[in-house]
Amino acid sequence: MVPVDTTDRIVPFARMLRRAVLRCCPLCGDRRAWFDGWFAQGESCVRCGLRRTRGVDGHELGSLTIALVVNVSLVIAAVGIAVALTVPDVPVLKLYVILASAAVVFPLATWPLTHTVWMAIDLRVRPLDPDEPGDPTADRLGA
Ligand SMILES: [Zn+2]
Repeated sequence: MVPVDTTDRIVPFARMLRRAVLRCCPLCGDRRAWFDGWFAQGESCVRCGLRRTRGVDGHELGSLTIALVVNVSLVIAAVGIAVALTVPDVPVLKLYVILASAAVVFPLATWPLTHTVWMAIDLRVRPLDPDEPGDPTADRLGA
């Protein structure tokens, strides 16, 4: 087997993470990535062709885990800040309603980001195979 030069398919992790936090494809940086809308996802990146699940069953468990950690952390931080700002007369019912709403809004707001961030981490841990679709230079080629 002839070794394939894949050095042009390596994107620095910091760049992939920055792109992912902005909801872009971590590999090519395309703003649309594999999303058809805020909640709808296609099968692969519209520009570079990177497959959303990378051919792995259960790939989305990683983004689910990130969503869980991020959103629980946000709610706990919000509870802590709210209690710290209102002590000693903590308006429990008001805080409950506001924070319960936040527990719904935070996951909706961060949902696509958890997918792109997980993809960046996955690409760092499991770089692209030579045969795997995905061309990080697609943006430079104007594809
Ligand atoms: Zn892409």
